[in-house]
Amino acid sequence: MHSDWNPRDYLPQDVKLLLAKPQHDRLLAFHHIVGQLKVQRRTGWLDHDINDCESISDHMYRMGIMSMLIKDPKVNRDKCVRIALVHDIAESLVGDITPFDPVTKEEKHRREWETIQFLCNEFIGKSNQIAAKEMMSDWLAYENISSLEARYVKDIDKYEMLVQCFEYEKRLNDPNKLKQFWSAVSNIKTEEVKGWAQSLLDARAEFFES
Ligand code: ZN
Repeated sequence: MHSDWNPRDYLPQDVKLLLAKPQHDRLLAFHHIVGQLKVQRRTGWLDHDINDCESISDHMYRMGIMSMLIKDPKVNRDKCVRIALVHDIAESLVGDITPFDPVTKEEKHRREWETIQFLCNEFIGKSNQIAAKEMMSDWLAYENISSLEARYVKDIDKYEMLVQCFEYEKRLNDPNKLKQFWSAVSNIKTEEVKGWAQSLLDARAEFFES
């Protein structure tokens, strides 16, 4: 039903103006597109009236740092950092679609896939084909959970959200308003991140006990 959705239509105005010039720098345009992630708020929080909430890049930044702290010797942490930093990059044009939006999971995926191809082919690839290939492969690894690193980043995606959730809960001094987010704990698969989440749950229980 949304088959006419095209990432081109969602470029920020300054990028559209830049691209309209006969001589334009596609890499600079891409840098501005990525800047959208600093402005875009995470909808899950906005939907719960946390209006000054974090941006999408805030979320990815802390995931990047968390990825550096993985202890599992089988994991390539640098790869995890890369995946963490690109996994939500399509949201720069797609926006942050939550399960409560009237957009199907398939349509969300299709829009994100269109966007990542658009960014890699039309912007990054024009100046650096290797970088475009790498970014595409990191993004796909995450989407398909096709490597151990991607598995870890999937877990860290949920864990980071829960750390953020606890920070908002403390600020609101209310353990109920954001309760629904905590069901994500059960989707964490790796033992290491499960351990992090357990420690978080303990800290939360202790906070709201007192
Ligand atoms: Zn994410």
